[in-house]
Amino acid sequence: MSQLEQTVARYRSLRLSAAADELTNLLAEAEANEMSYLSFADRLAEHEMTQRQDKRIRRNRKMAAFPAEKRLEGFDYRHQTTINKRQVNALLDFQFLDERNNLVFIGPPGVGKTHLAIGIGHKAVEAGYRVLFRNALDLVEELELAEMKGELKKRVSQLAKYDLLIIDELGYLPMTRQARYNLFQLINSLYEYRSIILTTNKDFTSWGEFFHDDNVAVPIIDRVIHHSHIFMLGGESYRLKRKVTS
Ligand code: ADP
Ligand code: MG
Repeated sequence: MSQLEQTVARYRSLRLSAAADELTNLLAEAEANEMSYLSFADRLAEHEMTQRQDKRIRRNRKMAAFPAEKRLEGFDYRHQTTINKRQVNALLDFQFLDERNNLVFIGPPGVGKTHLAIGIGHKAVEAGYRVLFRNALDLVEELELAEMKGELKKRVSQLAKYDLLIIDELGYLPMTRQARYNLFQLINSLYEYRSIILTTNKDFTSWGEFFHDDNVAVPIIDRVIHHSHIFMLGGESYRLKRKVTS
């Protein structure tokens, strides 16, 4: 075994696999640039760290389970004028996540609520946060299944591991009493601990009706809108407009 092979093997057994992979190249680079010992040591550590970070972000992006490839870069503010780029960009320092605040996008179908939620979710992943996207109905079903297996608490605490939970399209269909109770358990666990992005076609005045105004509805709404930035989106459906103009 050559000296180089032995060193690479040592790095591998220390689980410094990125450094092991790049050692040959980094050595060549160090020699070519007459790098100091300290610079070389730092370069190697830096390489391992950035590779790990990239890997983590790739893993988090996969875990987020975004349903479609929507990016903020592809959002057209000339079409959607009830929110502007400055307002959206202001969210991207992710202070709202650090402060466990929520975002609520309210508006009729097709105005870009889901697009914005996914776009912000992607940016959060890239900034190193753990994000999970769930359609509200799927989430409710998931909780119901867990509840039936006597594992509601366990599932809720798994969901509370994410820094940001995106709940898309809440309010499109009515929920059973048990479903509302399960959702309350989740929202309650996340309250002031994690952040939620909620998209909905219901404005708050009709939420009571949607939740059948029982004793679970009010605390759910209360916990979501307390500490939240609310965006009312309007305008015509982007889907419809595309149909008409194309
Ligand atoms: P909503 O969730 O409000 O019903 P979506 O975000 O699903 O609406 O938008 C419907 C479709 O139109 C999606 O394909 C989305 O990417 C696109 N879309 C909506 N608004 C915009 C916009 N302002 N710029 C670019 N695409 C948009
Ligand atoms: Mg939507």
